[in-house]
Amino acid sequence: MNRQISAASAAELARSAFRRLAMLRLAPTPENYARIWVELEHAQGAVPQDGTASPPHAAPPHAAPVTQPGGAQPRQAGQAVPVVWRQMWEQSLHLGLIPACGDDSLRQRAGQLLALAQEAEQAQLLLGDNRELWGQFQALVTHEREATDGVLDLFSSVVAHLGEVFAADSAAAAEFGTLQQVTRRPLDGARIELARSVIEPWLRRQAALQRSALDARATSREVVGAIARSLATFAGHSEQFNDSLRVDLQRLQQGMDGAQLEALAQQLLQRGTALHGQCGELGEHLRQAQQQAEQAMHRIRRLESELQQASQQLQEDPLTGALNRRGLDMAFARDSVRALQTERPLAAALLDLDHFKQINDSYGHDFGDEVLRALVQVTRKLVRPGDTIARMGGEEFMVLFPETDAHAAQLVVQRLLQGFRNRRLLHRSTGQRVELSFSAGVAQCLAGEGFDSLYERADAALRQAKQNGRQQVFLAGS
Ligand code: GH3
Ligand code: MG
Ligand code: MG
Repeated sequence: MNRQISAASAAELARSAFRRLAMLRLAPTPENYARIWVELEHAQGAVPQDGTASPPHAAPPHAAPVTQPGGAQPRQAGQAVPVVWRQMWEQSLHLGLIPACGDDSLRQRAGQLLALAQEAEQAQLLLGDNRELWGQFQALVTHEREATDGVLDLFSSVVAHLGEVFAADSAAAAEFGTLQQVTRRPLDGARIELARSVIEPWLRRQAALQRSALDARATSREVVGAIARSLATFAGHSEQFNDSLRVDLQRLQQGMDGAQLEALAQQLLQRGTALHGQCGELGEHLRQAQQQAEQAMHRIRRLESELQQASQQLQEDPLTGALNRRGLDMAFARDSVRALQTERPLAAALLDLDHFKQINDSYGHDFGDEVLRALVQVTRKLVRPGDTIARMGGEEFMVLFPETDAHAAQLVVQRLLQGFRNRRLLHRSTGQRVELSFSAGVAQCLAGEGFDSLYERADAALRQAKQNGRQQVFLAGS
């Protein structure tokens, strides 16, 4: 007789069984299902209505036919496949094996087995195949996990070695530190993305510098080659000259008449003139080589400064010289990773000029621009060199304070507000000193917190400061 369990509760039971198997890290073999089934029955009191308390397929393990790899087992007649067991089993293939399996042939076999299960009337018919399939899957998963672990270990050791190579370069060492964080288990998508955003621009810059360095090396090889060739030619010629001089001296010692002496003198003069010409040629070669070297150096210097400018322009707000949003993202990625690594605080302040529209309207847009530049100048003077000043857009700025908690950052921003108010910028055409101020919200970055969330908290504090009458610095809640 079939059990009176509805399809919905059967599916729920199947899901619970599957979850329990995953929790206990058990392969979903019929035997393990049997165990879990008993547990669930006891936990939920879901005693089957046919009176048997045992799982529907609970043939003792030794009774289940085991299909030997490669050898087909004769299908045996046994007990009927109960609906519940079949649903649990189908769920385990659908939800467990098929989506998780990267191996096409295994997935195909699971599909075939499922199709077979639609028709099979006997539980025993499927047990062996099922067990063998899960066994193969288990082996595959273990193999994949081992491969992933191996690749991670390899990556981690490459990064550690590269870190040693670049040990003298503190910026590079920090980037390698970031990469090493990524290999910590368990792998974390957000951490990988953060590391990618820090490392990618750095690698791009390194690649460009490397190209310049290769260019420089190729040019100096050419220059050295040209000098060496010239010297070799010159040395060859002067050796010939010395050899013939030796012969001439021997002839001189043996005695020569006037005509012979005159001929020798003539010869020497000619050779001397030729040698002199070669010296000149060598000098010319050297001069050319020197010129080439100077041009190459010039080219390299130009390349480097272009590179520097390009990467600065990409990250800088042209009006104020503060970082732009892109630069801020990079700075935040760097500072937040370091804060995590060093377990030191990181605070952010969001500043917004008070009544800036009114300033623009009263004194003109150019004066407004001057105010924006003045705020950045004052900020730069009052914060530490490692702090980041960035323009979020319009008249809103963010300052990042590494190694600083929210209270300390609030004090700095209050000093900054005082400094800015004291600035009282001169409007030349009217001769007026214009009152300036801003409001600010300060928030301390929580462990692992992303930029958007930190910004939202700082912005909420900033809005409170505005509502409370402006010219104030408010602390954000966490
Ligand atoms: P609140 O105190 O509430 O912040 O008032 P506010 O007037 O400062 O704020 P609101 O958002 O109303 O106005 C911001 C103004 O900033 C409006 C916009 O024209 C001006 N602005 C934005 N970007 C620039 C810029 O690059 N230069 C200048 N001069 N003005 C800018
Ligand atoms: Mg404003
Ligand atoms: Mg604003």
